[in-house]
Amino acid sequence: MDSAREAVSDPARMHRYGPEADKLARRLADLSVARLRDPVPLDGTATYEALNAAAGDTVTAQGLGGDAVTTLWDEVLSRACISTDHPRYLAFIPSAPAKAAAAFDMLIGASSVYGGSWLEGAGAVYAENQALRWIADLAGLPAEAGGVFVQGGTAGNLSALVAARAAVQRRRGSRPVRWAVLLSEETHSSVRHSLESVMDVDVIVIPGDERGRMTGEAVAAWVAAATPEEREAVFAVVATAGTTNLGVVDDIDGIADVCEAHDWWLHVDGAYGGAAMAAASVRHLFAGVERADSLIVDPHKWLFAPFDACALLYRDPVLARAAHTQHASYLEVVNVDSEWNPSDFAVQLSRRARGLPFWFSLAVHGTDAYAEAIEQTLDTARATHALIDNADHLELLVEPDLSVLIFARTGWTQDDYTAWSADLLARDVAFITPSRHRGQVCTRIAVVNPLTTIADIARVLDSMR
Ligand SMILES: *Cc1c(COP(=O)(O)O)cnc(C)c1O
Repeated sequence: MDSAREAVSDPARMHRYGPEADKLARRLADLSVARLRDPVPLDGTATYEALNAAAGDTVTAQGLGGDAVTTLWDEVLSRACISTDHPRYLAFIPSAPAKAAAAFDMLIGASSVYGGSWLEGAGAVYAENQALRWIADLAGLPAEAGGVFVQGGTAGNLSALVAARAAVQRRRGSRPVRWAVLLSEETHSSVRHSLESVMDVDVIVIPGDERGRMTGEAVAAWVAAATPEEREAVFAVVATAGTTNLGVVDDIDGIADVCEAHDWWLHVDGAYGGAAMAAASVRHLFAGVERADSLIVDPHKWLFAPFDACALLYRDPVLARAAHTQHASYLEVVNVDSEWNPSDFAVQLSRRARGLPFWFSLAVHGTDAYAEAIEQTLDTARATHALIDNADHLELLVEPDLSVLIFARTGWTQDDYTAWSADLLARDVAFITPSRHRGQVCTRIAVVNPLTTIADIARVLDSMR
């Protein structure tokens, strides 16, 4: 035997907590604290060629060592990621984790908690369920309601619709040749993708009103014009509580009336907007959400949690469990009906307890702090609305319900928006991207960060003169 090799080779060297691991953990903790204090500037996005020149091949047979790779991440790779919690990240739907939530995520990462079953993760599941309960209470869902935190709104919508189809089929005892779901032109792309590409279900688009809002009347009008077979094919309607592009809340109560009359499942997609159920100033917009059969809200959007977390709630979790529980001989020990196994409520099995950062901050700060922070962002959106109204060069395209504003710069083409957007990013001014509304090129601002000030926004609007 080669004794020199035997001396250095230790197959468990990555797993022992020695001086090397300690030094690395402390350096990463220090960097994490620095990052919690300051977002990375916005100007850091990069081309593949630039990254390849700066970072090269990072995965090697011998390893580069903790110090070198940490420096590479800190100085090169992390600088080429846009901080979604930057106060002037205004594109898409930003995120803005509470410091306590982001900090707690570090601890969970170090803790190897399995969040799939009560047997293994009882304490984590208990805490996650309390956070879910707060959202269920905001919506007015019954005491039996419950669910799970999944990866994002996409996974939440898919899981809810799979449960919906199974429940309706079981209830009817039959299935049509093809299933269908009613949704609107503003429904999030993930819903269409889930239905058409994953579930092979037909999509029926209900025309929106002048603000793109799906109403009960429009759904009822479709019903009146449909054949009995077309009506029989439907198992669910998807209402959106805060559309992504326009921030508009559908007529949930009116839609619920039609669902009730036809025994259809009502799924409410509140991935972005559902958080605003906590804000008294807009709570009335969500009337009828208490009638939802399933509801999603993404804490990584407007509930100040880090990626990735979507709260998926069912009015009757028994129906979801029937659709989603996985069975295998080695799983019977965890499949105990009296225990709450988060894995049973979505398309998943192994899961990190991804609701815990949200739960921790909610428990630390209390729900009032959440309501206040959300109201603060709504105030910023209202002030933005006033700035746009008073600017001769800008035109608001849709009256907002929540904190998304979609507007156009008079006379600008797609190229103007693209050049302007790239320039603001390159100069670390803001991240804001072009969009479209009914064929018109435009841009939009989404505010979910309580640190975003009206001065931040005024700077962006002035840059469009
Ligand atoms: C963002 C969003 C989704 C998708 O959520 P992910 O977390 O990105 O998967 C679905 N619906 C709406 C309304 C959204 O805004």
